[in-house]
Amino acid sequence: MNAEIISVGTELLLGHTINTDAAFVARELSAIGVNLLFACTVGDNPGRLRDALEEALGRSDVVITTGGLGPTDDDLTKETIASVAGAPLKIHEDSLRRLESYFKGRPAMGENQRKQAMLPEGATVFPNDIGTAPGCGVRTASGKVIVMLPGPPSELVPMLQHYVVPFLKEGSHAVIHSCMIRTFGLGEGAGALKIADLTDAANPTAATYAKENEMFVRVTARAESEEAAEALCRPVVEEICRRYGDVVYGVDVDNLESVVVRLLSEKGLHLATAESCTGGLVAKLITDVSGASEVFGMGLVTYANEAKMKLLGVPAAMLEEHGAVSEPVARAMAEGVREVSGSELGIGITGVAGPTGGTPEKPVGLIYIALSDGTRTWVRRMTPPGRVHGRGWLRDRAAGTALDMVRRYLSDLPLEPVQSAGPATTL
Ligand code: ATP
Repeated sequence: MNAEIISVGTELLLGHTINTDAAFVARELSAIGVNLLFACTVGDNPGRLRDALEEALGRSDVVITTGGLGPTDDDLTKETIASVAGAPLKIHEDSLRRLESYFKGRPAMGENQRKQAMLPEGATVFPNDIGTAPGCGVRTASGKVIVMLPGPPSELVPMLQHYVVPFLKEGSHAVIHSCMIRTFGLGEGAGALKIADLTDAANPTAATYAKENEMFVRVTARAESEEAAEALCRPVVEEICRRYGDVVYGVDVDNLESVVVRLLSEKGLHLATAESCTGGLVAKLITDVSGASEVFGMGLVTYANEAKMKLLGVPAAMLEEHGAVSEPVARAMAEGVREVSGSELGIGITGVAGPTGGTPEKPVGLIYIALSDGTRTWVRRMTPPGRVHGRGWLRDRAAGTALDMVRRYLSDLPLEPVQSAGPATTL
């Protein structure tokens, strides 16, 4: 099934609103094996929307529009689609009742609000569980499908997930199953090369995605039943995991931090963090995971030297001799926070996140990350990447590396440096 997206809204064209809807729809479509061929944006202009729709219907099976379904005068998507599909707008009684109950106890519902319950005759209606404008799917005379979704992401996301995905799956007469392999420490280029022969296949498909410091591969299969689709995916997922080795931190898991929290909980261990240049990011990521309170002892942001001395017991002489951004200080921070918190594991991070503050000996991007278990302390030295990266990127990379070190420790894997990081200093 081939699809395309038409995003409607002058504010999108002008760059006032970032088109997150299209990105979300694209991801959801690929997850269910629908091939997205084109995506375009048109302003609130019925003539140009009509042109875009006609062109899209000429080459794709499904056209998904976002925006322009609301009560305001510039919301003209529905009228234009009804006319292109040859399905006149009619009051949809269920949607009208939903609107009436939405407006109960609020200022009276006007005619413009009522307009939102006018939907193309014969359409499959997708209720709006958050706002007012329902979405719908209309079939054209030539068997093509137009899906209309509201613009606000808070409305579009649940509508797509709860109603549109099942609607499209039903129409495709096939079951789609997909798995997401998640890795940390592997560049997208290198990752793609390792599985180039597998990404050429049609069923299952394997596609790589790079996100910040991580790389994912989505494997998607189409078959007559869920079991058959799963069976098609399984050997490909196993093969990719085999080729990637221990940089894979999970298949169909939420993220690295949730894997770390699960592993800590399974082992009955606790973690504490002492962070400088990451400003508490590791603690934030860990505590984003529900259930973190069972495994996370303490997170300190020890930015100033005084804080490192007072709260973590980092010796003044060490700071004097090596400077705050140094391997001994990272080690002392990890050991110190482990001690003060009573946790079994301690993390210490110190580095130069930039963009200012770098020197020839300690350039922006030099970051030391230590993990201590009370018996040993490992320190990883992250060297500046070749390209210039912002403060946020460096912090994300350091926090991810710290989490990955904990994952590796808890999984009895070597605490090897990530591919793109500099040489490890194992002490
Ligand atoms: P409403 O009922 O709010 O009028 P609508 O379906 O008519 O919904 P629009 O009027 O086109 O949608 O957009 C409403 C708001 O939704 C926009 O101001 C913007 O904040 C957000 N929005 C619209 N389209 C997008 C998009 N493609 N990506 C992200 N946000 C969007």
